[in-house]
Amino acid sequence: MSIQTRTLILPKSRRPLTYELERKAVKRLNLRVRDDGTVHLSIPKRTTVAEAEAFLRDHEEWVLGALSRMEKRAEAHPTAATVGDSLPYLGGTLEVVWRSELPARVEVDMVNRRLTVFLFDPYDPEMRAAAIETFEKAETSKLVTALVDRYYPLFAARGVPYPKAIRVKVMKTRHGSCSSAKGYLNFSSKLCEYPIAFIEYVVVHELCHFLEANHSDRFWREVARVLPDWEARERIGKA
Ligand SMILES: [Zn+2]
Repeated sequence: MSIQTRTLILPKSRRPLTYELERKAVKRLNLRVRDDGTVHLSIPKRTTVAEAEAFLRDHEEWVLGALSRMEKRAEAHPTAATVGDSLPYLGGTLEVVWRSELPARVEVDMVNRRLTVFLFDPYDPEMRAAAIETFEKAETSKLVTALVDRYYPLFAARGVPYPKAIRVKVMKTRHGSCSSAKGYLNFSSKLCEYPIAFIEYVVVHELCHFLEANHSDRFWREVARVLPDWEARERIGKA
């Protein structure tokens, strides 16, 4: 369906709002204010215009806030870019594109190696950093959980109970740690920036601490039993 341009009077400010309405195969309503100040609302096929307008009225403050920020920024920084950033990801890089759109979320396009971040204010460095941190935590959590599940049977056979918690958090100096007494594994949220061979090494290293709490020769023999090429993998993290 083509895009309709419609106008509605916002209830609180009584300002007219001109917006583009697009009905398409989406699951929920998506409201976006583009860099050029165009307001775009895409809606699922079954949503009525009345429902779409009710949604816009509910988001009046968000829309007006986004529009006034765009205007101010356009005056102050006519060339401020919302593209051109990149993020290390699994040993490669993703181009990061920032969009002012509700709901806040990220979309990863691995074919074009692009991460689109939808957030309240794409020009706010703190909001950008928070969005990236949320993304990295979620990605790292998926990866390390899958890897713990993959390697755990080797440790179960040695009498190690399954970890009570696998936690992912911001860690300044380390990639991971293990509280063997409590049964917790902790991983740095930035692990997803590294090649999978290195992430695997970190997971196996921490699992081996359930067998040997220190870094003794016995500990390294346990690591080598699971990953004979662990030294090459460890070097990736230092590069
Ligand atoms: Zn260690």
